[in-house]
Amino acid sequence: MTAYDVAVIGLGAMGSAALFHLARRGRRVVGIEQFEPGHDRGSSHGESRAIRLGYFEHPSYVPLARRAYENWRELERLAGEKVLTVTGVLEIGKPGSVIVEGSLAASRLHGLEHEVLDTGEIAKRYSQFTLPRDYSAVWQPDGGFLQPELANALHLKLARAAGAEMLVNTPVLGVEPTSGGVRVVLEGCVIEAANVVIAAGPWIAGLVPELKPHLVLSRQVLCWFAPREPDAVRLGKLPVFIIDGEDDIAYGFPDFSGSGFKCASHHGSGIWTRADEARQDAGPADEKRMRDFLEAYLPAAAGPLKNMRTCIYTKTPDEDFVIDLSPEDPRIVIASPCSGHGYKFASVIGEVLADLAIKGETRHDISRFAIGRLRGAVA
Ligand SMILES: Cc1cc2nc3c(=O)[nH]c(=O)nc-3n(C[C@H](O)[C@H](O)[C@H](O)COP(=O)(O)OP(=O)(O)OC[C@H]3O[C@@H](n4cnc5c(N)ncnc54)[C@H](O)[C@@H]3O)c2cc1C
Repeated sequence: MTAYDVAVIGLGAMGSAALFHLARRGRRVVGIEQFEPGHDRGSSHGESRAIRLGYFEHPSYVPLARRAYENWRELERLAGEKVLTVTGVLEIGKPGSVIVEGSLAASRLHGLEHEVLDTGEIAKRYSQFTLPRDYSAVWQPDGGFLQPELANALHLKLARAAGAEMLVNTPVLGVEPTSGGVRVVLEGCVIEAANVVIAAGPWIAGLVPELKPHLVLSRQVLCWFAPREPDAVRLGKLPVFIIDGEDDIAYGFPDFSGSGFKCASHHGSGIWTRADEARQDAGPADEKRMRDFLEAYLPAAAGPLKNMRTCIYTKTPDEDFVIDLSPEDPRIVIASPCSGHGYKFASVIGEVLADLAIKGETRHDISRFAIGRLRGAVA
């Protein structure tokens, strides 16, 4: 008999959610994390992540997004803490914007509540934006933001309460299928588990080498500004928004914690070849890029800089996720590369990963995320 039913490698967004779902289903489960949970070297730090239903990336994400909302609300209920704040989301774009068109297509196909706004209507509701007259927007009332550090910590807390064990500051060096299970190799010892979930985020190619040629680690920078007009960007006044502008796509959040107005470009500024190369090295060029964007579209927010943090997107060539059983061995579940838009789904991806580790299948449609589609596709 193996020591554990399931070992979960990586306790960021996806791993902490998987650990929770496995533990609550009574599985003997261990989570293994190379750093302290909540660290700022991966993809899940920075105070807020956008969540929305009308999914411009592809309408097939909408059922998963619906389930994600349910699971976040359940996490809140079980933990007695709030992780999801609904502000509405405003997706603004130039004529022909893929974000506006895609959001509209997903909203119509799935009968989601939404409104299409021209700049006159946007100005009536949100006069803080300064937009070219031919821009338009899709408004979705159920959009909002999650608090990733808190939500990950709550998944881990509830997992532990349900019997999960955790090894932190413990890097996994390798994963070796054996006749009786899967061996997880640590420094100086091994752990035996019947199944393994690899949720290693930007480090995943180190444990799943077949992913390596397909992934790009994009350097992303989050900026916090002390707003010129604090009232214009406070919670209740400003929704979560994304602007598909002339030269950049950027998004922002209301200042809900007093740490300032947070915004970021969706386009990266540089590539790291290994996640260990990532540094907190944001500088004046990163600030200028965001400041220029704000001066163009939301000048009320463009006060003095308060903070900047770098973070990693792990991108596949088509920017869809990879969630699948390993082609090498179906006892190994692969999850993570979420191409910069995965956080909102962590609550349902945890459920999916638990399904896959326990039964080898899930009732959720994850066909879009099959690893086999990457064959021949190089990032
Ligand atoms: C700047 C930025 C903004 C984003 N905005 C949004 C947004 O608004 N909405 C949205 O939905 N998504 C957003 N995302 C994407 C989302 O945050 C990520 O998809 C998600 O956090 C990825 O979670 P993960 O569990 O795959 O990776 P991580 O959270 O990085 O977790 C991976 C964990 O595995 C551990 N690990 C790796 N290798 C090993 C090993 N060998 N042994 C032990 N442990 C290991 C790492 O230390 C890490 O803790 C954003 C991402 C970034 C960077």
